[in-house]
Amino acid sequence: MGFHDLDLTERLLIARRGTAFFAQRLTEFTDSQLNSDTLLRGWTRKHLLAHLGYNAVALCRLLDWAATGVETPMYQSAEHRDNEITDGAMLSAAALRNLFDHTVARLDQKWRHLPPMSWEAGVRTAQGRVVPAAETVWMRTREVWIHAVDLDSGAQFGDFPSVVLESLLSDIVAAWRRNGRGAGLVLEVTGAAPVHVDGVARTGTVQGALAAVVRWAAGRGAVDVTLRGRDPQPPRWL
Ligand code: ZN
Repeated sequence: MGFHDLDLTERLLIARRGTAFFAQRLTEFTDSQLNSDTLLRGWTRKHLLAHLGYNAVALCRLLDWAATGVETPMYQSAEHRDNEITDGAMLSAAALRNLFDHTVARLDQKWRHLPPMSWEAGVRTAQGRVVPAAETVWMRTREVWIHAVDLDSGAQFGDFPSVVLESLLSDIVAAWRRNGRGAGLVLEVTGAAPVHVDGVARTGTVQGALAAVVRWAAGRGAVDVTLRGRDPQPPRWL
């Protein structure tokens, strides 16, 4: 059972739980600790907060697009998105905490008011894929749960609901396949059928519990996984 098999209400609940999980980690940092590095190279916690704030705004644009039919892309360009984060990271800690809270509320309000018909309306992700507006719930869910770990707050993949872990793994494998990466790689998750990334002969195996394999596949480190026949770096995902 994956995230997409759940009712919309349940999916929204998991997104909101992820937001609360992230927000809770945030309350544990002092303002000056927001200047510290995250687990993402070159990004401080302030960069991450700016990114999540502007990501919510970008998802609001997709929901406006779905509601009105007037095309409003997530971001004008990749460069614009990056500049927004760089500039945002220079804001004060108070301003960034505010940005996070405010944009979370705005996104939630858009979800609550989206007309039932509009959830299936097609919108385009930053990677250029056309998806139904309902996909914004999953897009946000991924962001808040994974970035809570990136904050270097002690949060772990093992804290995620298992349905999130399972859907993350499907997403990552689908992205590898779409982009022709990970040929010959087999993922062996404890208690599940092995996942062959593509049909060619096996060149490497990654084995472990679901949370550890997802962590590795998402590029967040090879911890508690057994790697055979391949280097520790996973294929690129996003
Ligand atoms: Zn992100």
